[in-house]
Amino acid sequence: MKTEDVLNNTTDLKSEVWRWADCLGVKVHEVHVRQMRRKWASISTNGRLTLNTELLNLPAQLAEFVIVHELVHLLVPNHGKLFKGYMSAYLPDWQERQKCLNEEGITGLGKSLEACKTLSCE
Ligand SMILES: [Zn+2]
Repeated sequence: MKTEDVLNNTTDLKSEVWRWADCLGVKVHEVHVRQMRRKWASISTNGRLTLNTELLNLPAQLAEFVIVHELVHLLVPNHGKLFKGYMSAYLPDWQERQKCLNEEGITGLGKSLEACKTLSCE
């Protein structure tokens, strides 16, 4: 049962990736979900996306934000004006989501999650 739940979640996470890749018109070649120590996700220029399994413990909106952030990097490699422009175009409330995510920290998972949920991310 438990394993199935996890698998389903990973599948959901991946389908979010395909949905957004389609939406942004970018090519993602591989999606990996694994434990990562310091990052929520990473992407290589050839479209290899790695997502932290911890994203499954976050509100879906925050996981979505991470996915969109990484995929926009296939359009813009830095966090400059253009990057922010894309983020605002596709995810108008991305700054709020980012704030929530930053409050989480990578090690403080769960602590402020409830507050975050009731704030604006849910
Ligand atoms: Zn980035």
